[in-house]
Amino acid sequence: MINIKTKILLIILIIYCVCFVGCGEGKEKFRQTILDAGFQEERKLMVEEQIKKRGIKDPAIIEAFLKVPRHRFVPIKYRKMAYKDHPLPIGEGQTISQPYIVAYMTQILNLSKTDKVLEIGTGSGYQAAILGELSDSIYTIEIITSLGSRASRLLQEMGYSNIKVKIGDGYQGWEEYAPFDAIIVTCAPTEIPNALKNQLKEGGRIIIPVGSLYYQNLVYLRKVNNQIKEEKVFPVRFVPMVNTSGKKY
Ligand code: SAH
Repeated sequence: MINIKTKILLIILIIYCVCFVGCGEGKEKFRQTILDAGFQEERKLMVEEQIKKRGIKDPAIIEAFLKVPRHRFVPIKYRKMAYKDHPLPIGEGQTISQPYIVAYMTQILNLSKTDKVLEIGTGSGYQAAILGELSDSIYTIEIITSLGSRASRLLQEMGYSNIKVKIGDGYQGWEEYAPFDAIIVTCAPTEIPNALKNQLKEGGRIIIPVGSLYYQNLVYLRKVNNQIKEEKVFPVRFVPMVNTSGKKY
């Protein structure tokens, strides 16, 4: 017996075949749909085992993780590992974070729909896509041109018109769109950049890994009565925040 879900999937596939397979763009869409469908079960399992069981409860975050196709953000040769419980290389010596870390850092920011969010370290664009599901305006900066352009293209293709990608050094934040309700940093400086503290709204939150090349702490900051309150969360290991000459901040 074919269950109802499989029947619906088959009908969708037939409609796709009839409507699109004839033309080049259609073929590509068709191929993508098949590929995406193949990863759905793995994504559900990732959410159950790595996200929910470890205490991520916010329904909007869980929804976002179920929706965003993580496999499309990793290089083809690592696709099969896209939903595994660890970071993965994305090229240029950089990595996409472990799913749980992405979820944890997202949850601590306590985002609402109307929040304006800045991310430093676009990388693959995956974290930006998760943020894009939760808030209306996302600004993300990537220092490596090839990664930034790829992420920008992919996010655009996927319809994230609420995410603006800039190629440049995020150490100075993004003054033009400041202040932000939340700032997430996915590369580690030795100290918290002042520009980021200054570009935070009253009541705003920052989550950032801080420390040396090999030992860092995740730090959570809040701006309360124009004062920054800071607390350590737990030890982490992120790629370094660097300047345009590749030197670590
Ligand atoms: N959030 C990413 C993780 C990327 S890893 C994702 O979801 O895939 C961190 C990224 O920070 C790397 O791509 C690295 O090139 C970038 N980075 C390092 N220093 C930076 C800087 N000063 N400004 C902007 N991006 C920087």
